[in-house]
Amino acid sequence: MSADPPDPSPARSAPMPDPAQHPVTGGLFRSPVPPGTGWPGDPATADTPVATSAAEVVLLARQADGIRELDARVSVCRACPRLVQWRESVAVSGRRAAFADQPYWGRPGPSFGDPDAEVLVVGLAPAANGTNRTGRMFTGDRSGDWLYAALHRAGYASQPTSVSSGDGLTLTGLRIVATVRCAPPANKPTTEEKATCAPWLDRDLELAEPRLRSMLALGAIGWDAALGAARRRGWAVPVPKPRFGHGAEALLVTGAGRRVRLVGSYHVSQQNTFTGKLTEAMLDEVIARL
Ligand code: SF4
Repeated sequence: MSADPPDPSPARSAPMPDPAQHPVTGGLFRSPVPPGTGWPGDPATADTPVATSAAEVVLLARQADGIRELDARVSVCRACPRLVQWRESVAVSGRRAAFADQPYWGRPGPSFGDPDAEVLVVGLAPAANGTNRTGRMFTGDRSGDWLYAALHRAGYASQPTSVSSGDGLTLTGLRIVATVRCAPPANKPTTEEKATCAPWLDRDLELAEPRLRSMLALGAIGWDAALGAARRRGWAVPVPKPRFGHGAEALLVTGAGRRVRLVGSYHVSQQNTFTGKLTEAMLDEVIARL
């Protein structure tokens, strides 16, 4: 998941194998991957209810009775026609040349990590050839290399890399969520798409609330999404709205009086990490505050 730069070498004309072999398990999958067919980490089944409108997202998010069911419902959502069309077209005929022989998840990226997390990381949206290929947040692109290496250094991740679903990675005490769960064209979800997807994040926050200690917002969009979700939950949020910046911090208070620290970080996108705008030391420093 990331603000991934446009793919310089999409494999749009070569015929795609379908089904194709999962890179870790060797299992055969069609693209997009049908729910409940054995993809590692797939939280859904063929019976998972599918949201096809903004109103259904509200309803299905509210009625999800736990993290597992919430993840399942997110992973089959079809409420944003433009994003459904984009994520599936990339999966079928727009695969990056380097991955052209792999199956593509082609579905929304469910949250990833410890269901009992005390810390949430709030990202932007999946990358077309990252999460949209692997089915796991921040997995399969360079932004993930940065994030998981830092989480491993901080003791949250069991290994420093996240290459593919099924690679054994686990997170302890931390869960990764997102503002928008489907890969958007040019990494730019519309305002309407962000609003349609927000109830999934709201429910993630609600389920985490009894244990939540802190949140790390990656980029200004993640910062705004976290503040918006907190406000909708009825938490006390500072006024005027706290400004995003790397290292910015805001203290939020839940309805039950629990204090939750929101910390801002520049996004781990290549445009920040390649240019040195975000360094490993800077990322380690904000993660240490969680
Ligand atoms: S962006 Fe969110 S609401 Fe829209 S289709 Fe994807 S998961 Fe559903």
